[in-house]
Amino acid sequence: MTHPWPDDPTDVVAVRRDLHAHPELGFTEIRTAARVEAAVRALGWSVRSGRDVIDAAGLPGLPATSVLDHAAERARAEGVAPDTVARLAGGHTAVIADLDGNRPGRRVALRFDLDALPITEPDGADHRPGAGGFASRHPGVMHACGHDGHVAIGLALAAALSSGDFPGSVRLLFQPAEEGVRGAAPMVAAGACADVDVLLAVHLAFGLPSGLLAPAATELIATSKHLARFTGRQAHAAKAPEQGRNALLAAATAALNLHALPPFAGAVTRVNVGRLVAGVAPNVIAGEAELSYETRADTAGVAAELARRAEVVVRAAGDMYEAGVELTVTGRATAAVTDPAVATALTAAAEGLAEVRPTHPLGASDDASLLMDEVQRAGGLAGYAIVGSDTPGPPHSPLFDVDEAVLPVAVSWLERSIKEGRW
Ligand SMILES: [Zn+2]
Repeated sequence: MTHPWPDDPTDVVAVRRDLHAHPELGFTEIRTAARVEAAVRALGWSVRSGRDVIDAAGLPGLPATSVLDHAAERARAEGVAPDTVARLAGGHTAVIADLDGNRPGRRVALRFDLDALPITEPDGADHRPGAGGFASRHPGVMHACGHDGHVAIGLALAAALSSGDFPGSVRLLFQPAEEGVRGAAPMVAAGACADVDVLLAVHLAFGLPSGLLAPAATELIATSKHLARFTGRQAHAAKAPEQGRNALLAAATAALNLHALPPFAGAVTRVNVGRLVAGVAPNVIAGEAELSYETRADTAGVAAELARRAEVVVRAAGDMYEAGVELTVTGRATAAVTDPAVATALTAAAEGLAEVRPTHPLGASDDASLLMDEVQRAGGLAGYAIVGSDTPGPPHSPLFDVDEAVLPVAVSWLERSIKEGRW
């Protein structure tokens, strides 16, 4: 079934609701990217997309081919033109839009993430998207982190700037697969940050209430996501158990001991095993097991050491059961700090719009940090801002919903910041 896309990109609520009703998981955001591309092109921006701005082929964090194919089929069924689907399919769901201003100034890039989460959205009347008729139409997928709002803000901003009445130039980075921190790295590799002087990322909510703007988020935590594959040997569980090599027990041993890694004095750290799949039947020694885990720390140095120790645990667990271990990093984000000059410019632009809270802890990871790091290491500036939004439930929960009243405030804040150009 196709649904008409709101014609007016400045109708930030209508756009957000359309996106909310059609959530897509990381690297399958074909409908979303197609809509974004069409909207910014119609507004006169110069647009690049697909393989020109992301090389997704062979990425360890890419979903299975069957998942990618299903997404392409669904996008076609929802009215995306076949040639557009072909261009964006296979995980190439990134869009970059550039526009020059009418006076000299810096190049400012803004990151907006496209993807949703594998969460089932309630459609009852006690959940606002359910009551409003814009709950997810894609079973098992939900915008439960506000990225639908982020994209709507990005498109309304594109409209607000389309006259070119601003200094320097603006680049909008529409990034796939923020969840699992997988989409930023291949965009950086494809040159997304080339010649960027100032990089901004914005996130809604995260515990900051409506009516508040935080120009400089703290606690952007470095993380890496890992997939461990254990290969043992199947055998009859009664007749010849000694001939088996138990991959299930190797993975279970790894899971328990990953959670037994010590905390680090003076650092915030997290370890989580989030997925474990093993074996085939109760009377067969399990020959295969797969385990997904993540490590996090608030400095890049501790994050690297924690990931190293986790690897020691996983490999040792494999050794105990003489199972082979294959380890893959599927996603990565680093720690990031907002430059004071960016915080000052954003604070000035917020005057009269909303109350400013100088900092707010994100307490999570976002691979916008890789874009920030790339720009900062080249001598540029970067910032991560939070737009306050009341939410009925925490992010990544089925109760999550954003306060749509804050969306136009976010657009005005970013528009003013760019027009003032105080970086
Ligand atoms: Zn998010």
